[in-house]
Amino acid sequence: MKYFIGNWKMFGSPKSINILKKINLFYTKDKNRKKYRIIFTPPYTLLQNYSNYFKNKKIFIGSQNCYQKDKFSSNTGAISPYMIKSVGAKYTLVGHSDNRIEGDTDLMLKKKVNYAIKNNLRVVFCIGENKTEKKNKKTFQVLKRQLTNVLEKKFYNNIIVAYEPVWSIGTGEIPSSQNLKETTIYIKKILKNIFRSNTPSVLYGGSVDGLSVQSFKEVKEIDGFLVGGASKSSKKFIDIIKNYYR
Ligand code: PEP
Repeated sequence: MKYFIGNWKMFGSPKSINILKKINLFYTKDKNRKKYRIIFTPPYTLLQNYSNYFKNKKIFIGSQNCYQKDKFSSNTGAISPYMIKSVGAKYTLVGHSDNRIEGDTDLMLKKKVNYAIKNNLRVVFCIGENKTEKKNKKTFQVLKRQLTNVLEKKFYNNIIVAYEPVWSIGTGEIPSSQNLKETTIYIKKILKNIFRSNTPSVLYGGSVDGLSVQSFKEVKEIDGFLVGGASKSSKKFIDIIKNYYR
């Protein structure tokens, strides 16, 4: 099973559901539909509305983040995994570089993953090196730390890993397919040490669009994509899927 995930970040109003309706229509007619799953992570404000609408349809809804506590607490502006689950969402991203940059530590991320899974959300756990780390040849070291400090064997079945090199997010700069292959194989090796035979799927994220996906699809180790910018347009998102299976 491949995954195509759209992360809207700070984008979307109730009307933007039309973008997802078009993608859902494409999906229901696509001859390849049994091979993949579509997940969208709109902002918190739209989770309930979108989850209700897509309840019996084929697009899965998730949040972009969650707070590192279980249910209710006195943290102004925070949204817990319980609250996300209670409005019908099925997934959550954890560890997106936007949130790591704002101060999410490995310890906080571990709590987020724990509480999300406790509340029956599946977690898309994001990892990735920044430009300086890449320049200093620290990529593998960073990825190993991000994975081993947070993930545990007991999370198996509920984790998807998204490799998102920070230097590639929103920049149009992408890794070569050879480079992406080596990094994905490395990530899968670390995951095998943690999860034994139940290794999670590993997705790629960073400037994925209808054009770049043509080089990424050569990397057979990749189990899908996390898409930012191009997920805000139904046409661009559908082009990614079409070109991947072409
Ligand atoms: C992202 O937001 O996680 C992302 C990968 O963005 P983009 O596709 O725009 O690079």
